[in-house]
Amino acid sequence: MPLLEVHDLKTWFPVGRGLFKPVKYVKAVDGVSFTLDAGEVLAVIGESGSGKTTLGRTVLRLIRPTAGKIVFDGKDITYAPDASLKWYRFSTAMIFQDPFSSLNPYHTVQYILEEPLILRKVPPQERRELVVKALEEVKLVPPEDFLKKYPHMLSGGQRQLVGIARALITRPRFIVADEPVSMLDVSIRAEILSLIRSLQSKYNIAMMYITHDIATAKYLADKLLVMYAGKAVEYGPFRDVIKEPLHPYTQALIEALPDPDPTNRLKIRKVPPGEPPSLVNPPTGCRFHPRCPYMIKGECDKEEPPLVEVKRGHYVACWLHIKR
Ligand code: SF4
Repeated sequence: MPLLEVHDLKTWFPVGRGLFKPVKYVKAVDGVSFTLDAGEVLAVIGESGSGKTTLGRTVLRLIRPTAGKIVFDGKDITYAPDASLKWYRFSTAMIFQDPFSSLNPYHTVQYILEEPLILRKVPPQERRELVVKALEEVKLVPPEDFLKKYPHMLSGGQRQLVGIARALITRPRFIVADEPVSMLDVSIRAEILSLIRSLQSKYNIAMMYITHDIATAKYLADKLLVMYAGKAVEYGPFRDVIKEPLHPYTQALIEALPDPDPTNRLKIRKVPPGEPPSLVNPPTGCRFHPRCPYMIKGECDKEEPPLVEVKRGHYVACWLHIKR
């Protein structure tokens, strides 16, 4: 049984109000399914506004879903009242994108790391030991140099390391890492990603790694879920999807990767032409059809392709790969 099962999850936000009901909905997540085993890493890729952050927050139940199902460790938590979710909050954690705003500026590093342990009623002596160990694990050494510091006294990279230590100090079973390196200097991104990977693997933590950059996912991911305009358009084992991407949008993302030859610094990144569509009024049929070079008129623009398994464990939502 997977640790986490997500079925046809939808998170819609009402916009504007009519006389009796909301006028429209932003369909930020609109029918996403996946599973995650203990210790497995799922990379969720998509452009800004594709719904990936909303997906991560909904799975953590920081946002209430509109429809679908979230099952964690065999328990359905989809609509469980917040008051009954303490055990789930204690089993999960989040690494935030912005290391500059995710730490309380009035708290020392010691208190920032101790706080989740205080909530779990860990005795003071044990807390102190766990804090020192957490700092050592993220290579903020010697720990004594950092305990009394405030976030503004740290570099961006050091702040994100504190954020990682805070997320992992309680040994969660599942974490969501939302673009954890996108605001950091390029020179330290790979180092921080491999640190996250080694700690996640050491403690067998399942992880959802959210990113717009498929190149960084290779450091971490076992599985890949590609989102476009709130929809999962391709999902499967990371290597299979990268080796043989089936959806034209996934193909475009992979083509946009920088040249692996580091001497070829002048290579211009190709991006999929066009803009992501509105999530309030998405295009009819396949949401990618206005940008898709393979669009079949009268078909792709009329009917929405379902996400179907075309190879073992490899799913795609594209009429080019669905037998009718
Ligand atoms: Fe392109 Fe049609 Fe496939 Fe959509 S369903 S990705 S428009 S070929």
